[in-house]
Amino acid sequence: MSGTVIVQLTCSQCGEFTAHTVVYAGRLLVSSECSRCGYIIRRESHELRSDYVRDLEQRVASKPHRMWLRLVEHPIRYAARLPTSVLTKPIRMSDELKSFLRRR
Ligand SMILES: [Zn+2]
Repeated sequence: MSGTVIVQLTCSQCGEFTAHTVVYAGRLLVSSECSRCGYIIRRESHELRSDYVRDLEQRVASKPHRMWLRLVEHPIRYAARLPTSVLTKPIRMSDELKSFLRRR
């Protein structure tokens, strides 16, 4: 997962249960912004950077195993989606890095 999602959360600043814009880089939460008062929570850059690198290493290392599981569990669906997945992976990684770098 990467990018931006809108979720309902209780804001720690204004106390309202309202829409928040949540930004992810990979599987990591980058920031959250309250739509009512604009309060933003961001992770510390040094902490986010080291967590992101560790998460990316873990995802790269586990990719062959995850691909194998998908192939065994759903071979036809896996084969049908593989070309699109391979072609769009650079775009998805670029979007993920943009989310990460935009935060810094
Ligand atoms: Zn708020």
